[in-house]
Formats: sequence, C-alpha cells, structure tokens
Amino acid sequence: MGFFDQLKSLFTSPSGDPNALVLYVKCKRCGAPLAVRVNLANDLSADYESGGFVLNKEMLDGKCFTLMRAEIRFDAARKIVERKIDKGEFITREEYATMTNAQMTNDK
Ligand SMILES: [Zn+2]
Repeated sequence: MGFFDQLKSLFTSPSGDPNALVLYVKCKRCGAPLAVRVNLANDLSADYESGGFVLNKEMLDGKCFTLMRAEIRFDAARKIVERKIDKGEFITREEYATMTNAQMTNDK
C-alpha cells in the first residue's frame, strides 16, 4: 500500500460530507483509541509559507487524560501532505473499530 493510500484510509469522510474529516488516534500512554471529528471548512488555518493549510487539533484522552496535539498539513487542494501527533499515534478506522469493540467486550 502506498503512502497516500495509507493516508486515505486514515482520514475518511463519513456521510459523504466533503468538509468532514475524522481523525482516528491512539493514546501513546494507555493505548485508548479516540475518534475526533474535524470540519475542514472551519478548522483549517491558512499556511502562507506553503500556500496550503494547517490544522492544529488538541485531543484529550478521556481515560488517562493525556492531551495529544496533532498537526496536519494540507496543500491548497486540501489534500493531506504531512501529519504528526504528540503523545499519540494515528490509527486507521478499521483499527479504531477493532479496538473499541474489544474494549466494550472487556468492560462487561
Ligand atoms: Zn491515555
């Protein structure tokens, strides 16, 4: 799987809304999965250096209260070109689904 295909599977837009983006991340400390919804129309800031956009998103893990900071860079067409996250890890939607299902089963 190529790099951009991987990115595509990491960032999927549900319900066909082109402005909706869901970030799936995992807390590095306790491993809890987190899904964060982003609105590309409102949440992006212009990056004048690259001519694209940048998104800075803070996500609080509700389990161990680790604050993760994601920084995602987009080109002018709002395609993701770079992403990094502090105190966490990006996961795919499939991984997120697997992890949340496993958690629900464990909690019973
Ligand atoms: Zn955590």
